Amino acid sequence: MTRPSGSANFIRMMINEKELNEFEEQLRKEAEKTETHLQKFEQNVDFGNDVDHFDEEADEAEEFANRLGLRKVLQERLKRIYEALDRIKKGIYGVCEKCNGEISSKLLNIDPATNYCQKCKQLVL
Ligand SMILES: [Zn+2]
Repeated sequence: MTRPSGSANFIRMMINEKELNEFEEQLRKEAEKTETHLQKFEQNVDFGNDVDHFDEEADEAEEFANRLGLRKVLQERLKRIYEALDRIKKGIYGVCEKCNGEISSKLLNIDPATNYCQKCKQLVL
């Protein structure tokens, strides 16, 4: 009937194109949101320069640490999202990085940026 779409890279694509587009959309939206969030951090706090001048109250130091921690979380999340978008481009989205098995669309629905299948995720966590 229809000819294969020519991309030999689509090795083990278990999710269909409609789902793939939806995941991509979700990932792009989340990337945008996370980037905006990160930009706010950069604007509010001058990271890097003032770290040595912490003679303020402990509360403030604690808040600073929390902000740094949250910023790191956001940066890591963003990295994961971009990696997932990259996997979509390469045609290997939905394939577990560890065992090359299928990542169920159920798991992808919970976290579209996941790079491990459920089995490997449990081993890693
Ligand atoms: Zn796996």
